[in-house]
Order: sequence, then C-alpha cells, then structure tokens
Amino acid sequence: MSGDGVHRAAGVISIGDELALGQTLDTNSMWISARLAERGVAVRRHATIADDQGAIAAEIARFAAELDLVVVTGGLGPTADDLTRQALAEAMGDELVTDDAALAEVRSWFESSGRSMPEANAVQALRPAGAAMLPNAHGTAPGLRARLERADVFCFPGPPTELRPMFDRDVLPMLRTDSVVVTRLLRTAGAGESAIAERLGGLMDRDRNPLVGTTASEGVITVRIRYEGADRAEGGRLVDEAAEAVRREVGAYCFGEADETLAEVLVRELTARHETVTTVESCTGGLVAAALTDVPGSSAVFARGLVTYSNDVKAELVGVPAWVFAKQGAVSRACVEAMARGGLEASGASHAIAVSGIAGPDGGTDEKPVGTVWTCRASADGTSDARRLHLKGSREQVRRRSTVMAMVLLWLKLRGAEELRVLAQV
Ligand code: ATP
Repeated sequence: MSGDGVHRAAGVISIGDELALGQTLDTNSMWISARLAERGVAVRRHATIADDQGAIAAEIARFAAELDLVVVTGGLGPTADDLTRQALAEAMGDELVTDDAALAEVRSWFESSGRSMPEANAVQALRPAGAAMLPNAHGTAPGLRARLERADVFCFPGPPTELRPMFDRDVLPMLRTDSVVVTRLLRTAGAGESAIAERLGGLMDRDRNPLVGTTASEGVITVRIRYEGADRAEGGRLVDEAAEAVRREVGAYCFGEADETLAEVLVRELTARHETVTTVESCTGGLVAAALTDVPGSSAVFARGLVTYSNDVKAELVGVPAWVFAKQGAVSRACVEAMARGGLEASGASHAIAVSGIAGPDGGTDEKPVGTVWTCRASADGTSDARRLHLKGSREQVRRRSTVMAMVLLWLKLRGAEELRVLAQV
C-alpha cells in the first residue's frame, strides 16, 4: 500500500491457458476493474498469464512492488495446471502449509452433496504460511489473501459466480480510498458517437471534473459522467449539473439512464399507454422482435412478429404490391411503408415497425451500397415515418444497428419527436 495506507492503484492478473489462448473471454478483469473504478481505485495494469508457476510468481511480485492492491483470478482448482497458490508462495518466499479449517471446509463441501472428497482436492487447502484463506460459498476453491511488498494481494477462483461474491465480501469492505466517485450514465440512440461528441463539445474536455465521456455499443451511445473527488455531496451536485448540461445538448436523443435498454423503455411506454406493436422485418430477421420480447412483461405490448425475408413473403404476409419490387426494389421507402401498413392491418396493433436493408457483405449496388437500410414506423392514428439509413460495419453490425434504429423510430413517436433528425452515422 502507499505510505498513507490508501489503495490508489490496483492491478488485475488473470490466470489460465484458456485465456492466453483466446478460448475464454476474460470478463473477470473487466468486472473487477469496473467495481474498483466505481470506488475510486484506479486500475493501472491488467495481465493475462498462462498456467506457468514461474511466470505467475514473477507477475505477482512485479505488481506487488508497484501497486497497492493486486487481484488475481483463476488457477486455484485441484489439478496440476492450477498453480496460483504455489506461485503466490514463491513470490512471498513462503512454504505451503495445510490450513486445517480450509481442509475441513473443502471436505464438508463434498459431503454436503453426498460425495467424499477426492484426494486431489486436498491441495485446495494449501496456503502460503503468511497468507490467509478466504472461504468460498459457491465452490471448492478457497481464495487467498496476503501482504506482499506494498500491496494487499487477493487470489480468487476463476468462475465469475464464485469470484464476484467473494470479491464483494472480502475486497470492498477493506478498501481505503481518499476519494469518492459519483457516476451517472445517460443512454442515447439515433445519433452517432461523433455527432454526440460534437454536440457535447467542451463538456468532454479531459481536465474537467466531472469527466464526460462516450461509449458506443450496438447503435446506443452512452454518455458517462464521472466525478472523482473528496466530497460526495458536492460530487452529486456537480454530476447533476453536468447531466443537465448534457441533456441541453443531446437530450433529444436521450432515452434512458443507467443500463436501461431502448427495448425496455419502449415496453414500459407502450404498457403505460395500453398500446401494442408489430414488427415486420427483413434484413434484421427477427432481431427487433427478439429485443422487444427479451423484456419481461412484453407480452402485454407485443402483438406480432413477422419475418418477411423474401419478396414473395413480403407480398403474401403483408401485401407489398408487385409494382414496389419492380419499380423501387425491396430496399426502398415504398417497400418499408407497405410492410409497416400491412403489419398494422394483419395484427390490429397500435404501431408497426418495418426494416428492409442490405446487410452485406454482398448485394450492394452504387445506388444502394451495403449498409443502406430503410426503416418505417406506422401507427393506427394514420401517421408514419420512414427513414433511409447509411450504416457502416460488418453484416452483424448493420443488422444490430438497424435493429436499434428501427426501435428509435417508435421511440420518437412515443415521445412526440417525429420531426427529430436521426443522426445515424453509427
Ligand atoms: P475451479 O475450482 O473452477 O477450477 P479455478 O480458480 O481453478 O477454479 P480456472 O480453472 O482458472 O479457475 O477457471 C475455471 C473457469 O472459470 C474457466 O473455465 C472459465 O470458464 C472461468 N474463468 C476463469 N478465468 C476467467 C476470467 N478471467 N474471466 C471469465 N471467466 C473466467
């Protein structure tokens, strides 16, 4: 720890061949880093190390010499390639000793499910002489806690379901920080990240506190407002002020806060109005329907989901006239308007959303390149709103972004903002 006992800088070490070989995604370091950042501990280093005792020991020692907190995950299982406890002992220059209480716990973990403990699992009760065991309520591998150089070192098992409760129980309460963090997330859709950033302008200057930043994911741009300082009340006030300033610039595109999804907001709004929606999808192949029905309670508002991928089915299920294909093609205003109107008629829903586009990688022309997507919202009140989008990216990205943009049109209707320009360079 730094001389004043404060945990300022932390590091996360993820252990395992499967991570180093790219077979498992390292979500542990992401989760731990977010948890620490929320509490004002800066994560300065991440490392991924294969199952190699010497390499793990060297990395733990290097981190412990430079950082105040080191969190290691993985490699605490009972097999020969689980080497974290040996590596910690090596870094500490300690012997491994059997911890009787831990041995009893591992044994009773097996007995509670009617099995006797395999001898191999006895290794999980070993700890470096100077380290403490941390019980694991969700698996057999106990964690370890030690002091090394300037750092508090924690080792946790790799499975997220075991690690996360242990981290919250053992690390969070002992953290000493000299700053508080107040964060707020505003979620926007309908405008690309650069368009949002341009509108936010100086609010995003890197030397401001709160710091305002953006993250783009699948067509949704999240504006993150983060205060770090000494005073929670002041932080709350400054974050509220910054949120107001952000809303003044991009509030028209802001559909929710925290981790709310656009689909959740739509389902909530439709439920409140006792209205329903039908989806008529071509290039998105049901992704809009999937997003909406992902939301618990969506059965009250989801009238019907149609996938009309071929022209024949567009004609048969939602009555797109033959002249539309002949004159305008399936990726056109006329086509999505007919799809949405046909969807309304077929279902009697309050609203229909239709999407038809060229997701690629083939099928583009000079006039309609890959990423050209038409989407339309039509409603039982006779209004409709069709937009042409020029989306960038892979087939998957075009499909996902089209899904978001189709939902944006319904959201604009529900909030009475149909005239809003969609700045969709996403
Ligand atoms: P166990 O008692 O399960 O063997 P362990 O500490 O030995 O615990 P590992 O064998 O390293 O853990 O990993 C077990 C599983 O946990 C992996 O197969 C993987 O699914 C998951 N896991 C490990 N490390 C990570 C990580 N960094 N991010 C996400 N998942 C992980």
